[in-house]
Amino acid sequence: MLRIRGRAPRAAVALAAAGALAGLLAACSGSPAPPADGTPAAGQPVTTVPGGSALPPASTPSASASAPSRPLAGQVIVVDPGHNGDNWAHPAVINQLVNVITEMKPCDTTGTETDAGYTEAAFNFNVAIRLARLLRAEGATVILTRTSNHGVGPCITQRAAIGNRAHADAAISIHADGGPPGGSGFDVIEPGLIPGHTDAIVGPSHRLALDIRDAYHRITGEPYANYVGHDALDVRTDLGGLNLSTVPKVFIECGNMRNAADAAKLSSPAFRQRIAVALAAGLTAFLAPAGLVPSGGASIPGAPAG
Ligand SMILES: [Zn+2]
Repeated sequence: MLRIRGRAPRAAVALAAAGALAGLLAACSGSPAPPADGTPAAGQPVTTVPGGSALPPASTPSASASAPSRPLAGQVIVVDPGHNGDNWAHPAVINQLVNVITEMKPCDTTGTETDAGYTEAAFNFNVAIRLARLLRAEGATVILTRTSNHGVGPCITQRAAIGNRAHADAAISIHADGGPPGGSGFDVIEPGLIPGHTDAIVGPSHRLALDIRDAYHRITGEPYANYVGHDALDVRTDLGGLNLSTVPKVFIECGNMRNAADAAKLSSPAFRQRIAVALAAGLTAFLAPAGLVPSGGASIPGAPAG
């Protein structure tokens, strides 16, 4: 998400000429070109999942004879798809510096992309709308920090403020990483202690991180990241989206877009649906543990063994 990648991105020349290099270097891992027509894109209807015939219907993760059908009723969840599809075209906007308590940093970044040009912004948004649909089916009120992948921002400060204003019971920021090509796996980022700021959210955010990590690993089969964090957990105090949150919040790096094997998975609509199922299960475990089926995600059709 915040690592710098080596190769020159396609949009870099124009943006650098516009004086936007600082934004590129601060990006999740670089600067993607706009998605080409025909590439997997955000906004595709979530009601049709290409190749996803083996995937469960939206209500499956929490539905059972003994569990409530709407275990998240009354819960407010903020889903934050990281970056935005047109950030690359608006360097003057995203490079504005904002105060994230521990430092000043750009308002937003472009995110990374796969070698094939599937952008992180599109991935994040596609997973977010799938997740929102699942959570709403469980009864939650879901607020997205952006409602399309064809805009710029909002700033990381605003992404946090949206969760705060909603008094969200939980918030999750969805990302995919731009790590070293030899590295793979996922990790969950939780807020570190900043006295006077994050005191109240460190504890619950850690519990949320554990629930998200365990569900994600179990349901997607994705291994813990082997190049960042420890046991797929990473505590950070440099992310505005966490530092400025007053509600329990984590980020997840769903995989490494710069790794060929991870990129193939992240580019698959069926795998993105499985990611959404996993994140919904993790949020449900955190917010309504009694609403989970006894065996959790292990009972979900199509979930990988182990
Ligand atoms: Zn990112």
